[in-house]
Amino acid sequence: MFKRILVAARGEIALRIIRCCREMDIETVAVYSKADRRSLHAAVATASVCIGPSQASESYLRGEVLIEVALKTGCEAIHPGYGFLSENPEFAKMCEKSGLVFIGPPSDVISRMGDKLAARNLMKSCGVPVVNGSNTAVRDIKSAQKTVNEIGYPVLIKASAGGGGKGMRVANDVTQLTESFETAMAEAKAAFGNGDMYIEKYIEDPHHIEIQILADRYGNIVSLGERDCSIQKNNQKIFEETPSPLPDEDLRKRMNDAAIKAAAVSEYVGAGTVEFIVDGSKNFYFIEMNTRIQVEHPVTEETSGVDLIREQIRIACGMKLGSDVHEVMHKKHAMECRINALSSGTVKFLHFPAGYGVRIESHIYNGCEIVPYYDPLLVKVIVTGNTRLEAIRRMRRALEELVIEGIETNREFMHLMLYTPDFVRGRYSTGFYEKEHLKIDEMIRSAAETLKN
Ligand code: ADP
Ligand code: ADP
Ligand code: MG
Repeated sequence: MFKRILVAARGEIALRIIRCCREMDIETVAVYSKADRRSLHAAVATASVCIGPSQASESYLRGEVLIEVALKTGCEAIHPGYGFLSENPEFAKMCEKSGLVFIGPPSDVISRMGDKLAARNLMKSCGVPVVNGSNTAVRDIKSAQKTVNEIGYPVLIKASAGGGGKGMRVANDVTQLTESFETAMAEAKAAFGNGDMYIEKYIEDPHHIEIQILADRYGNIVSLGERDCSIQKNNQKIFEETPSPLPDEDLRKRMNDAAIKAAAVSEYVGAGTVEFIVDGSKNFYFIEMNTRIQVEHPVTEETSGVDLIREQIRIACGMKLGSDVHEVMHKKHAMECRINALSSGTVKFLHFPAGYGVRIESHIYNGCEIVPYYDPLLVKVIVTGNTRLEAIRRMRRALEELVIEGIETNREFMHLMLYTPDFVRGRYSTGFYEKEHLKIDEMIRSAAETLKN
């Protein structure tokens, strides 16, 4: 087993990895930017090193600096967390060349699956259903128009290197296509340094259901079941649960089989997620594979009893998947709310929920500074119940207990969302937020008004 790992991440996921390492008797080296000098992840690691100014491009994204620090501090491996360099094949390759273990799939697997267009084509070739759309990169409006002539409107313009909902635009007609194509491409170039685009048929109001996979170096692949991530704001997940309220056993089995096939043909190693959208007639389509740990991984941990970070480290170390991973029985229902910052500032008072069935993943503390440079995620509230209804009731009371003063957050929104009839019935799709948010925002506004008077 590794003796020392460099954690190339910040925020809650850096803490999550450091905590796991402590339990495995592995030392950790944290890296932090100037804005993060008082961060918890830097304080609790075995050692910590400042790697540059606040902007991610000058700190967390500087692969050569991370490698230099890892070598200097005697680390054997690098855990990239999520975001930043976690799906960057060049970084994984740089690690491999320097004799460091990248805790994730080999760089050629990241190239194969991290490029969304390449992954689409690979899936198509092995019979995993993909959304109708382009087979090659679209770099100008003329070739965009060509794809649209074949598949018809509405379409979704997507970035091949995309992530986090960026560089994505819907077009309902030729005017919108012309307008949106240029802006989407500019956004992709700015965010990912790559302007390769592709076009997909826009599926009306689908469900987002993804499958968690673990694969070792010896060709063993297991599925740890699905997560429903259909509740999204601007194509970014804000709530996740498992099991999903949507699929019957047949659909569930077919999606699991497709995900395992995706992992097998890409020669996948490590923890990964195969994302699908499901339409109103329960047809499912591959949209992308995330070749890293995901924000919502704890809900799967809660129902499976498998520590996914620990498995990532074990697999990277060359160990086989254990019998505990092969013989998972999902018994419970788990859900996660992402509590995001809507402003920056100082946390003046903080109280976390606790008690039976509640898990908190967070890097914030009383008096800490929330800076605008990074992801707005503040707290992940995860609950487990014997049934979906029990989990809903537990999440409601957990969010009632949560107090974050000094920063505007989406806590109230998430809390009220848990009372909407469609959510309670488990009848929601990716259009849920658009449909419900004005009503919920109005309730929050009028409640605040009442309190003032
Ligand atoms: P998904 O990418 O499916 O939304 P997560 O919610 O787990 O999955 O994403 C993890 C974090 O990484 C998010 O905050 C997201 O904004 C960020 N992220 C994902 N892909 C990229 C990327 N290619 N470049 C920059 N950030 C990304
Ligand atoms: P990212 O890399 O940003 O996570 P994804 O390709 O995973 O991008 O898509 C993010 C979200 O956008 C999906 O969860 C879904 O809500 C929506 N989406 C993606 N592709 C389609 C599509 N073809 N039709 C309708 N919605 C889509
Ligand atoms: Mg995605």
